[in-house]
Amino acid sequence: MTGPRQVCVLGSTGSIGESTLDVIARHPERFSVRSLSCGSRWEELLRQCRRWRPRLAAVGDAVAAGKLRAALRADGIDTEVLEGESGLEAIASDPEADTVMAAIVGAVGLAPTVAAARAGKRLLLANKESLVMAGAFFMAAVQEGGAELLPIDSEHNAIFQCLPGGYRTGDTVPSVRRLLLTASGGPFRSAPLESLDAVTPEQAVAHPNWVMGRKISVDSATMMNKGLEMIEACWLFGMSVDQVEVVIHPQSVIHSMVEYIDGSVLAQLGSPDMRVPIACALAWPERIASGAPSLDLVAAANLAFEAPDLRRFPCLRLALQAAREGASAPVVLNAANEIAVEAFLDRRIGYMAIPEVIASVLDLHVSSELESLEHVKAIDAGARRAARGLLG
Ligand code: NAD
Ligand code: MG
Repeated sequence: MTGPRQVCVLGSTGSIGESTLDVIARHPERFSVRSLSCGSRWEELLRQCRRWRPRLAAVGDAVAAGKLRAALRADGIDTEVLEGESGLEAIASDPEADTVMAAIVGAVGLAPTVAAARAGKRLLLANKESLVMAGAFFMAAVQEGGAELLPIDSEHNAIFQCLPGGYRTGDTVPSVRRLLLTASGGPFRSAPLESLDAVTPEQAVAHPNWVMGRKISVDSATMMNKGLEMIEACWLFGMSVDQVEVVIHPQSVIHSMVEYIDGSVLAQLGSPDMRVPIACALAWPERIASGAPSLDLVAAANLAFEAPDLRRFPCLRLALQAAREGASAPVVLNAANEIAVEAFLDRRIGYMAIPEVIASVLDLHVSSELESLEHVKAIDAGARRAARGLLG
């Protein structure tokens, strides 16, 4: 390749976005920041534009985009600011960008992530919601666009690293018997069950091992995150639901494992630092420094494993159910979860109401085969309305 990779970061102001820029900053000869983006917190994007001087920026919210434009002009910075979903899609499919980090949180990330797939980019996928909602269409877009899809979720990146050399996401490896998806179990793994009703947003976002955005932190506490990741793993690695086993491993040292038909189990280990999978995917198949500390196995001392308790983690049970049902059920699961988590973070519902809302919306939903991306968006919108209706 000639010259540095031109990188577009979708969701650059978030936790994954900031970690991506941290890795890029360590390798200026390899990577150049072509474009940055955010939802509405334009002041943070302004700070990033001052530092990175990208050619393009995109802001989901039009009012915030206007404010960023004015502030950049006052600073004499000539970054062009695009806005709305079309602006996000434009930076994702920009012909001058060859690498796209898809790190917008939630269903709003679907359209720009698919745009990057269709445009044939090296696509670093953090936005798992895209695959949960529209796995078949998303994987087809990757194929048709000739994109190179690399997983960023630490578990999926671990599995990717444990698969045979030359493996391409979407392919099924016949010699793989199953995938072992590890989960920390979150902050309430051993809390008394009756104490969960009183859990506050502050407690739920305080993850024992990882620093992440608020939505995924709550998903980790409820283990909905692992449910979404199970569905994500099925699409990425061409596996059935029954070939993916969730194992609780509280130390988060082993990031996931692949079991082959001869009984060999390969694992990827490391410090719980998202810069490891990000650096891995940015430079793949080369290896570059990520800034993550070395793993201290002696300090970790013990690696423990246990089966998840589905009474404690009803969200994982609901996700399993939706994964087995397939068709539109995962779309509804994801949409209802986004609305319920937002309501919990806004203190409108309690922690244990999250699975109740999702279960009710799933019960109301009549499953249908997904016909197109537009159909996916319509089902997503319907499930959001149903969830909001339940919340009153
Ligand atoms: P975050 O909340 O820290 O950041 C979210 C980003 O999305 C921000 O830049 C925000 O501006 C942007 N965004 C939000 N709404 C938007 C909109 N309407 N239009 C455009 N941009 C919008 O979240 P995060 O923790 O960085 O997670 C991002 C994604 O990566 C999620 O899908 C998450 O599941 C996945 N992921 C995160 C981690 C982690 O360690 N943080 C690990 C694995 C996977
Ligand atoms: Mg993960």
